[in-house]
Amino acid sequence: MADASRRMTEAEYDAAETAYAESRSLVAAEAEGDERAVEAALRPRSLDEVIGQERVREQLSLVLQAARGRQRPPDHVLLAGPPGLGKTTLAMIIAAEMSSPLRLTSGPAITHAGDLAAILSGMNENDVLFVDEIHRMSRPAEEMLYMAMEDFRVDVVIGKGPGATAIPLEIPPFTLVGATTRAGLLPSPLRDRFGFTAHLEFYEPSDLELIVRRSAGLLGVELTGEGAAEIASRSRGTPRIANRLLRRVRDYAQVRADGTVTLDLAHRALDLYEVDQSGLDRLDRSVLDALCRRFGGGPVGVSTLAVAVGEERETVEEVAEPFLVRTGLLARTPRGRVATPAAWGHLGLTPPADAAFGSPGPGQPDLFGDE
Ligand code: ADP
Repeated sequence: MADASRRMTEAEYDAAETAYAESRSLVAAEAEGDERAVEAALRPRSLDEVIGQERVREQLSLVLQAARGRQRPPDHVLLAGPPGLGKTTLAMIIAAEMSSPLRLTSGPAITHAGDLAAILSGMNENDVLFVDEIHRMSRPAEEMLYMAMEDFRVDVVIGKGPGATAIPLEIPPFTLVGATTRAGLLPSPLRDRFGFTAHLEFYEPSDLELIVRRSAGLLGVELTGEGAAEIASRSRGTPRIANRLLRRVRDYAQVRADGTVTLDLAHRALDLYEVDQSGLDRLDRSVLDALCRRFGGGPVGVSTLAVAVGEERETVEEVAEPFLVRTGLLARTPRGRVATPAAWGHLGLTPPADAAFGSPGPGQPDLFGDE
């Protein structure tokens, strides 16, 4: 039963990923195409270079310092949080700070226990193994990983049926760094085997501004403080988006101006790319627009809303809604989606007196409802 529901959620996750890829939005938090290669140049290389996430940085620094003192590999680390906040970056830093080689793989790449056995059998003492999207690993591989994490040993099964034999394989002590956008999807035996879990939070605008300035320095882009603040404020609390917007604004500055990113230039460039002052893109705004103008602010079912904006239900639900909900512009209620007063304000509209949010009492939407 638990298994079935887990599979369903994964299917939804896949749908969301496809939707992200198809939307090719400037404000998608996932890396797109060859973006990972561009990002490599911008990654902080040590904990000191990491901007923001003070608590995680301090916790992690203690874990690493203590391990160095004991001359042992650090405990396994789980990095949990939305995409684009620095999980891969931190994994690389953990390896660098321990002066250990890093091996990278991802959950979807490990489809059989054999895939994992092959990786583990090639590990050397103190290696750091980074498994991105660890919640998407196959079940048998997950079970093999429990044992590897705890006992530094796996049983490799050779053959099938009654003749199958399990050959124990010792693995040198290593550190697993798992990253997940869905910590809740991890089975608890796996979660419990991590000695330290870091929860990454969305970044404050002031931290994003520092990130934009740092990246501009590395890319050789001249920008004013106001220009940096403008890009930061439209980046949805996410360094990956901040860096992406910076690259697009740089293009604009290079082609349409003298190359310096000022406040006015950042404004014009981001307006051209249709990323508004709150970081909403065209899809986000058309969802809000349909909700307010066509459905009087709701409540309206998500499928109807999707038809109204000419998108798949999954795209509206997984691509647009999370940020709209996070910023308090849209609420998911038991009776459907509802625009908040802030949504009306964002579109420059006045909510009608009978808007769902304006009518307290029994009809009032349940802000914390899931549907
Ligand atoms: P994730 O693995 O969580 O999706 P990444 O580690 O790949 O995110 O980070 C995405 C981009 O954002 C990288 O280019 C990285 O340089 C940048 N970045 C993330 N966190 C920070 C930070 N704290 N300071 C500076 N840059 C950051």
